[in-house]
Amino acid sequence: MARAHADEVDADSRFPLEAINALKANGLLSCSVAETAGGLGISLSELSRIARKLGSCCSSTGAIFAMHHGQLMSIDRRGTSERLRSLVDECVAHQLLLASSTSEVGLGGDPLASTCAVHRDGDHFTLTKNAPVISYAQYADAILVTARRDEDAAQHDQVLVVCRKNALELEQTSEWDVLGLRGTCSPGFMLNARGPVEDILDDYGILSSTTTLPVTHILFASVWLGIADGAIAKAALAVRRAARKSPSQTPPSALRLAELLAQHQQFVSLVAHCASEYERCADDHEHLTSTSFVLMMNNLKVSAATLVTDLLIKSLNICGIAGYRNNDELSLGRMVRDALSASIMVNNDRLLGNNAQMVRAFRG
Ligand SMILES: Cc1cc2nc3c(=O)[nH]c(=O)nc-3n(C[C@H](O)[C@H](O)[C@H](O)COP(=O)(O)OP(=O)(O)OC[C@H]3O[C@@H](n4cnc5c(N)ncnc54)[C@H](O)[C@@H]3O)c2cc1C
Repeated sequence: MARAHADEVDADSRFPLEAINALKANGLLSCSVAETAGGLGISLSELSRIARKLGSCCSSTGAIFAMHHGQLMSIDRRGTSERLRSLVDECVAHQLLLASSTSEVGLGGDPLASTCAVHRDGDHFTLTKNAPVISYAQYADAILVTARRDEDAAQHDQVLVVCRKNALELEQTSEWDVLGLRGTCSPGFMLNARGPVEDILDDYGILSSTTTLPVTHILFASVWLGIADGAIAKAALAVRRAARKSPSQTPPSALRLAELLAQHQQFVSLVAHCASEYERCADDHEHLTSTSFVLMMNNLKVSAATLVTDLLIKSLNICGIAGYRNNDELSLGRMVRDALSASIMVNNDRLLGNNAQMVRAFRG
């Protein structure tokens, strides 16, 4: 389903409705929730394999799947209020779709800082955020929004606010006319929300380092791996075609493919290792907040973003003009454009800058 509509979703910059409905029909928007709570109880490694498969078919669908589960797992693992527990139940029963708003106009892409603040009035809150990008906001049942704890809090003293569709106003402030991941439908919005304070998850810094950030990095890396899988399949087809033309000679592109497969193998191992490492220590709060774990997750994001771009450009070189054309079986245009988003959605330089600060006192 995702593959069948991927080119049209990209060309029209439209939400991949058919693929998301298919995920819903198969319970895949709540598959990470425990079986005892009505989900499918699948592990992060299995979630990663689904994200990879989706990435190879339609990167926009894969990206939506990754962002949604990053948010759902955050509520499921860390939400304690009755309302947040019942939101997880609703996600299972009605396959709700959750979006995320961390970026803010004026602050750039630092997810761990906000200028907007929660305004509390008794048991209720109001929140206004000028968001430059919110993916699939108009299709989501709730948006999880980072903000300062209150008007007096520092930029890094953040909470995560569940803003439900029925108490949310979105005024679109920009168009989503972009290079890749066009099906995520991610324009800017002025967001106004209200709700009960039980919908606020405290201490976003800890929530992010222990759940949101590792899960999102692992699932996005899986989607990018899927894009690389798709591109390499086309490169392999190009090599087979070349080999058929001159059976007595190994085509020069076969050497490039061999080189590509070695790099792809590193990519596969990287993603699998990080997913199983998170599973192993998912309840070890001390380890998840340690410098070595934060470095590992930042390194995963930076390495995966670099690998996918490199593998796509190398696949394009193997496919040649056929890959460059937009109307060939070997066309790579959409995949190359989608892959280029990897290094800028949370900029690699930002993460490397954070790592540079952490490694000043690192002992290995
Ligand atoms: C397809 C897609 C979907 C997205 N969906 C969402 C979404 O749903 N919700 C959401 O909140 N966001 C989303 N984002 C992320 C978000 O839009 C961008 O990452 C964010 O707005 C950053 O924008 P920027 O590039 O201007 O910012 P910056 O991160 O500020 O980067 C701009 C430049 O400044 C440099 N820079 C800035 N600060 C530092 C630093 N401290 N160290 C080193 N270099 C620095 C960077 O290297 C870069 O060159 C999405 C992004 C994409 C591509």
